[in-house]
Amino acid sequence: MTKLTRAQIELRERARALAEGVIAGRAAEVDRTEAYPWNNVRTLTKAGFMGMTIPKALGGAGLGYLEAVLVVEEMAKACGVTARIVVEGNMGAVGAIMAYGSEAQKKLVAKLVLAGDKPAICITEPEAGSAATEMTTRADKRGDRYVINGAKHWITGGGVSRLHMIFARVFDEFDQEQGIGAFMVVRPKARAGAETGGRLTLQDIMAEHKPAMSESTARRRLRAHFGARHAINTRWTVERGSAEHFEMLRLLDCAKGLIIGRREPAMGLRGLPETEVLFHDLEVSEHMALMPPRGLRHGFGDLMKAYNGQRIGAATVALGIAEGAFQLALKHAKERHQFGRPIAEFQGLQWMLADMSTKLEASRALIHKAAARRGFPYIVEAAQAKIFTADMAIEVTNAALQIFGAAGYSRNRPLERMVRDARMFTIGGGTAQILRTVVASRLLGRRLPQTRNGYL
Ligand SMILES: Cc1cc2nc3c(=O)[nH]c(=O)nc-3n(C[C@H](O)[C@H](O)[C@H](O)COP(=O)(O)OP(=O)(O)OC[C@H]3O[C@@H](n4cnc5c(N)ncnc54)[C@H](O)[C@@H]3O)c2cc1C
Repeated sequence: MTKLTRAQIELRERARALAEGVIAGRAAEVDRTEAYPWNNVRTLTKAGFMGMTIPKALGGAGLGYLEAVLVVEEMAKACGVTARIVVEGNMGAVGAIMAYGSEAQKKLVAKLVLAGDKPAICITEPEAGSAATEMTTRADKRGDRYVINGAKHWITGGGVSRLHMIFARVFDEFDQEQGIGAFMVVRPKARAGAETGGRLTLQDIMAEHKPAMSESTARRRLRAHFGARHAINTRWTVERGSAEHFEMLRLLDCAKGLIIGRREPAMGLRGLPETEVLFHDLEVSEHMALMPPRGLRHGFGDLMKAYNGQRIGAATVALGIAEGAFQLALKHAKERHQFGRPIAEFQGLQWMLADMSTKLEASRALIHKAAARRGFPYIVEAAQAKIFTADMAIEVTNAALQIFGAAGYSRNRPLERMVRDARMFTIGGGTAQILRTVVASRLLGRRLPQTRNGYL
């Protein structure tokens, strides 16, 4: 196991105190309401846990991924959603932009993230999930800008994130494909609460799209179109992503650009929205294109190196959720009496607890090894850490629920939430199967098939 320095241990203690003292008490409410925890974001920002990995020269703490995962694990023991926000505020898009971005891009990201923004990474499309390189979203060069059209789905942070890192196939002025690139787009600040219910008021839409007209003009236009059917008063709402929503945007002259569509009713990690993100003639300055050093032909591969950090972050959230469930189960096993003695005295449960703690330690060792590397984590180590930990978290949270008996199955306790939250990590950020293919392809010296007709 990587030996931690005094400073790293102190950082972990500080994160633990905040997680136990503040974040844990809010976790059930975040899950129940499915509302993005803006108060936790303010707490994290104040504590300096957003943008820890951003260099000091840009206002960050200049820390590495090992420090980030120490904080993420502590947060995840208390609240998986909050831990994922810490991941996105330090790894993933932040890592890619700090490695490949221009000075202006880095400054922009630092400013947003240090103020609490959780960047969104937009890769997955309805027809391009595991086969991400089959994405059809395109960015067409037009003079000094790119025009992006396409549709993504399952984008974490849709509706709450300001910075979006959008992956697209890039075409030059002559319609020749250059490869896959990424583009940075900043959305206006969302109105707190607008992202939660999936229904939007006119004020939400005005705040989100900033149409070039007053609210009273907007109201007049909508009334003229929709007629008496809608009073378009302050109580009037439209379903996000519906035909009516898009019609409304057209009437307000803001149907172009980046549009947040429907939210997925996710099984777990419910305070963090996953939504469709749509691009209709979205214009992006060429200065907002993220150019990997080897150019667009290797764009996807190089940008995905930055994603290895994100994978370690995701693995750490899974680890923290499982560790939190394990600690609850251990305490319960010592306190709950059946047959006249604590249930911890039954060997069946002792072996379960022993297996749980062994798997947790193994996961932590894999994660710390991958995170301790300088620069981006190595693809195989990151994949191995996520493969093992994602499976482990499902097993350990289920075992913890079992140790609680019926009490574990109750929504009055956190176990059922932890089981639901832990289920995500074999899917998001590279599935269990695809990551095994990544490891196997390195072992065998073969390249991962990523196109319809063979190999990259
Ligand atoms: C909670 C959550 C958050 C997410 N956040 C984001 C985000 O912020 N940004 C983003 O871009 N995406 C995000 N995603 C999407 C995620 O990256 C995709 O779900 C994932 O890449 C898998 O794609 P898919 O769901 O379309 O599954 P599919 O690709 O349709 O796969 C279905 C099944 O087939 C298996 N499979 C597919 N191909 C192979 C193969 N070659 N060999 C073996 N098995 C295979 C898969 O492992 C899986 O079990 C998120 C997903 C979830 C659940």
